[in-house]
Amino acid sequence: MTTTMTSTPTTTKYLQQPGRHLIGGELVASASGETFDVLNPATEECVGSVAKAGQYEVDAAVSAARRAFDDGRWSTLAPAQREASLHKLADLIAAHAQDFINQDVLENGMPLPFAEWELAKAEGVLRYFAGWPTKLYGQVNPVAPPLFSYSLRQPIGVCAGITPWNAPVANPIVKIAPALAFGNTVVIKPAEQTPLAGALIAELCLEAGIPDGVVNIIHGPGDVGAALVAHPEVDKIAFTGSTATGKRIQAKAAETLKRVTLELGGKSPNLIFADADLEAAIPGALLGAFSNSGQICFAGTRLFVERPIHDTVVDALVGASQQMTVGSGFDPAVQLGPLVSDEQLARVLNYIERGQAEGAELAIGGARLGERGYFVPPTVFSGATNAMTIARDEIFGPVITVIPFDDERDALKQANDSDYGLGAGIWTRDVSRAHRVAEAIRSGVVWVNTYGDMADSVPFGGFKQSGLGREFGESAAHAYTETKSVVMKL
Ligand code: ADP
Repeated sequence: MTTTMTSTPTTTKYLQQPGRHLIGGELVASASGETFDVLNPATEECVGSVAKAGQYEVDAAVSAARRAFDDGRWSTLAPAQREASLHKLADLIAAHAQDFINQDVLENGMPLPFAEWELAKAEGVLRYFAGWPTKLYGQVNPVAPPLFSYSLRQPIGVCAGITPWNAPVANPIVKIAPALAFGNTVVIKPAEQTPLAGALIAELCLEAGIPDGVVNIIHGPGDVGAALVAHPEVDKIAFTGSTATGKRIQAKAAETLKRVTLELGGKSPNLIFADADLEAAIPGALLGAFSNSGQICFAGTRLFVERPIHDTVVDALVGASQQMTVGSGFDPAVQLGPLVSDEQLARVLNYIERGQAEGAELAIGGARLGERGYFVPPTVFSGATNAMTIARDEIFGPVITVIPFDDERDALKQANDSDYGLGAGIWTRDVSRAHRVAEAIRSGVVWVNTYGDMADSVPFGGFKQSGLGREFGESAAHAYTETKSVVMKL
């Protein structure tokens, strides 16, 4: 394992002027004048700041979104005009790709290839949903004459999108694009660790000519998100983040019966059977667990390996981990950047200690690298059991827990023994087994002989405590519209 700590550039434009909120078509500072700093997790230096919202900004943003929804300035536009606006925003995001990528590395720490991936994802999501306004149909319902009935799909209203820090550009866009495609207006609250992407998206929404009040973006910590959830004029919450916060949001949203979609945590099983192509399975398992330093909701962190190949797989994981480079995301040789914050660093190190205390064997990694920046190397536990804390809790760091299994039945039993159900992987050459296991695993996505591949047309979301509802594909049309049925007597 090598480490590098170089990083250029060192700040963003938001060091000179703090990023502002977008409220009702204007970029504004907070009424209180308050701002908060954004830290580079690789150096712990300030790389920019943004305005910090209070209740005043929450109320102003929700009122602006409400007005824009109620007067129909967006929902009654011709579908092709909404399509054109979403493409225009995608064009502007693509034109500012380098700014976003630099900001991503500075505020999140991610390696350049991951930043490039998430930028392409954001642009692609906008273009995918740009295709929907012109293709959303209602239906005619089968009823007997003299009745005639049809159902319309209508926008829900004001949607609040609350997002985490692991994909600072794509996460807000994944909330904005479908909400707008289906005629809603939005208030976005990006994660407080990585708000700079949202500040730049706000500027580009203005430049794209999206009507005032249709997209509002406000910055601040969790209590700003909580104020949106409590607000009576918000109709829907679209949240991505931790399961603990998701539960709080669902409970609070129940008071006003807001529509809620929750994309939450995971502890995804990745199953390697003895007949698997290990040349593909080993890199697939590493990528599935260590991408973005393990800070991905569907990371395949419980690696179940059929007993006869357990030791071979552990040796291969250790060998490959030794070849990985940890360091600044700006270094093209780097595969693992820092964790996003000191809080995340402490949490991950604490779980690694728990794993050792509960008897798992640390095959590689486990200790913080350096004293500046939040670097943790690839970490592999072997000889673990599915009952250990490191197999139960979402760690959100570069930690794989390898657990042996005896046969298909045992693999399925252990894989499904979890509070979560987001992703799952199966590596086998037996096509019948692949179908059987995919059918029986209780998770929102199952990958076979790959891990983490996604497309915007594929519904994504969780079983059990990994979430509620689905994003992407046709599922998004259900998540962002109400069905209205009309019954007439002819
Ligand atoms: P993580 O940082 O582990 O993803 P969270 O789920 O707490 O954790 O954060 C995801 C997003 O939810 C962030 O934008 C955060 O500010 C916001 N948030 C945190 N607490 C609340 C809350 N009680 N209500 C609404 N949003 C919240």
